[in-house]
Amino acid sequence: MIKYSVVVPLFNEEEVLEETYKRLTAVMRQTNESYELVFVNDGSRDRTAEIASGLCQRDRCVKFIQFSRNFGHQIAISAGMDYAAGQAIIVIDADLQDPPEVILEMIQEWKNGYDVVYGKRLVRKGETFFKKATASMFYRLLRKMTSVEIPVDTGDFRLIDRKVCDVLKGLTEKNRFVRGLVSWAGFRQKSVEYVREERWAGETKYPLRKMIRFALDGITSFSHKPLKVASYLGLSLSFFSFIYLLIVLYQKVFTSTTITGWSSILAVNLFFNGIILVILGVMGEYIGRVYDEAKGRPLYIVSETIGIKRQERVEVL
Ligand code: UDP
Ligand code: MG
Repeated sequence: MIKYSVVVPLFNEEEVLEETYKRLTAVMRQTNESYELVFVNDGSRDRTAEIASGLCQRDRCVKFIQFSRNFGHQIAISAGMDYAAGQAIIVIDADLQDPPEVILEMIQEWKNGYDVVYGKRLVRKGETFFKKATASMFYRLLRKMTSVEIPVDTGDFRLIDRKVCDVLKGLTEKNRFVRGLVSWAGFRQKSVEYVREERWAGETKYPLRKMIRFALDGITSFSHKPLKVASYLGLSLSFFSFIYLLIVLYQKVFTSTTITGWSSILAVNLFFNGIILVILGVMGEYIGRVYDEAKGRPLYIVSETIGIKRQERVEVL
C-alpha cells in the first residue's frame, strides 16, 4: 500500500529534474510513510526521459510514464493521476516554483480530514509583469463567469484524496481544465498559502499560444456566458438595425431626401458582417469542443512505462 503519490509533469525539464528529485525525496522521506514519485514525460525533446529513467533505476520510489508526444500539461497531470497508486495524490510542477516543503502542510490538512488541499499563491516571484497581470485577470474573469467556485490565484499544485482522484479518472472530457474539475468535484476543500518562487532553471514551457488555449479551455469548459453574450449582442444589434431600417424607409417614402450613396450602406454592411463573424467565432469555439468530445479518442497514448503495472480505469464512484 502506497500512502502518497507525487505527480510531476515534465516537458523539457532536463535542467531541473535532478534537483526536483532531490528536494521531493528529502521532503517525502520526512513523512516516514510510503510514497512514490510519478514522473510524466510529456514528449520532451531534451534529455528528460534519460534522466528520469536513470532515477527509476536508482530509486524504486520513482515511477515513469513516457508520452509518445507532447499532449500538454493538463493531460500529463491527468495521466499521472490515472497511474498514481497512493491514498493521497499530490500534483506539483517540476520547476520548483511550488516549494515541495509545502507538501508537508498539505498532508497535515489531509490528515485533519480535508479531501482537497490546494496551494494559494500569495506572491509570484520572478515572473514577468505580463504573465502576472494576465494570470490575475484570467482568474478574476473566470470567477465572474462560472457558477463553480474556482478559487483565484491557485494552480494545479494541490493534494487530492484517493476518492477525488477516482472521480477525476471517471471524467472523459478531452479539453481538461484540471483545477476547475477538482473544484467542480467538490468534497472538503482547504487552502494553504505559499510564496511562489522563481523557476529553478530553464524557462517557462507555457508560451502565449499555450496560455491562450489554456484560458479558453478554462472558460469554455465551465461557462456558457460567451455564448449568451453573442446572442444578447446579436439581438440588440438586430433591434437597432430594424430602427434604422424604419428611418430609411420613412426618408424614402415621406421626404425628398434621397439616400446618399453607397458608402453608408457599405459601412453598415461591413459592420454587421464583422459582428456576425465574431459571434460565429464564439460558436466555433464551442462546436470545436463538442467535436473533440464526440471523437472519443483516448486522452493520451503511453508508449512506455517503468515500474508501473497496467491499471484499469476506475469508474465514477
Ligand atoms: N508542462 C508539461 N507540458 C507542457 C507544458 C508544461 O508537462 O506542454 C509542465 C512543465 O514541465 C512544468 C509544468 O507543466 O512541470 C508547468 O510548466 P511551467 O513551469 O513552464 O509553466 P509556468 O509556471 O511558467 O506557468
Ligand atoms: Mg513554472
